[in-house]
Amino acid sequence: MKKLFKEWSSKYDLTVSLFLILNPLISLTLTIIYVWTAREIPWAILVFALAFAAATNLSITAGYHRLFSHKSYDAHPIVRALFLLIGASGFQGSCLKWSSDHRRHHSKIDSENDPYNINNGFWYAHMGWMFQKSSVNMPIQAPDLEKDWMVMFQDKYYLWISIVTGFVFPMIIGHLFGSALAGLAIAGGLRIALTQQSTFFVNSLCHTLGRQTYSREISARDSFIVALLTHGEGYHNFHHKFQIDFRNGIRWYHWDPTKWTILTLKWMGLASKLRQISSAEILKARLQVESLKMKSRGFSDEQLENLREKILSAQNQLKRLTEEYERFRNEFQDASTAKLIRIRTDIQVAKIEFEMGMKLWRIYLKAA
Ligand SMILES: [Zn+2]
Ligand SMILES: [Zn+2]
Repeated sequence: MKKLFKEWSSKYDLTVSLFLILNPLISLTLTIIYVWTAREIPWAILVFALAFAAATNLSITAGYHRLFSHKSYDAHPIVRALFLLIGASGFQGSCLKWSSDHRRHHSKIDSENDPYNINNGFWYAHMGWMFQKSSVNMPIQAPDLEKDWMVMFQDKYYLWISIVTGFVFPMIIGHLFGSALAGLAIAGGLRIALTQQSTFFVNSLCHTLGRQTYSREISARDSFIVALLTHGEGYHNFHHKFQIDFRNGIRWYHWDPTKWTILTLKWMGLASKLRQISSAEILKARLQVESLKMKSRGFSDEQLENLREKILSAQNQLKRLTEEYERFRNEFQDASTAKLIRIRTDIQVAKIEFEMGMKLWRIYLKAA
């Protein structure tokens, strides 16, 4: 028995495993006991728990992920501090550890060195990897973050910060709203379990469900449904292809609350240098993937290459002319100047060329 336990404990991380299993069980039990004995649903605490859950998720997605792991924008120190404090309340590890693992996931995707390698199965990528010492304790590799005193402070005192923000704080708020126990169970434990699942889905579902829009070489996929579950991280194929972009959902209608939060922070003057991949580069990647599909259905390389070149050069021309128009408009002020009229006409021509090319491309794609 002792030998078996020794073997088990050398392979599995007991602290992490016990927390992941016991936290939802105990929190759910306490919630049921509270509702049973108090004979009421603590609505105020429930609303607070939902708001706190949204803040926790956003601190992970906009903070841990897009700000600290990928540096896809710069943020005011107050925002950075809030992301680190609220992020710790989610019990997903310190920002340093989380970011180091995540960067490794990007650079070693789908290989044995990917900490949440989807090739080891859905369950492994979702939660299983955290039970095992070999994957949960991979060495820290984030030299830039190791120079960031806020990140290092959070890492050093992570346990205390996470207990205070994750359990003590909701317990105090619960007490103010009528029950410290309900605060602890619902806004503490249950919120942690739910927000953890939201992040875990990124590593499992985002590598299982959806389309490979921008790259077929990686398992990451784009899915609206998964984006709903993950605060916008569901456009994961795009994200893996263009990890520096502050957006995951690039269209205005793509569900990406994380992107909207970053834009709101920018509007408030609290975020800057939002990094964005050019639409030309994004379209190029998409056409490349789509042409692979068409090629496998009998379209010739030459035929596809010609049309792709036509579309991309029309797009390029459109961009160049629009910039030229803006420049001259500022210079001449008068929009009826002959030069401006000529550029406007050229813009219309380039637009038609681009749209016609895309229309033909879509016809090809439908036929494939
Ligand atoms: Zn991924
Ligand atoms: Zn990422």
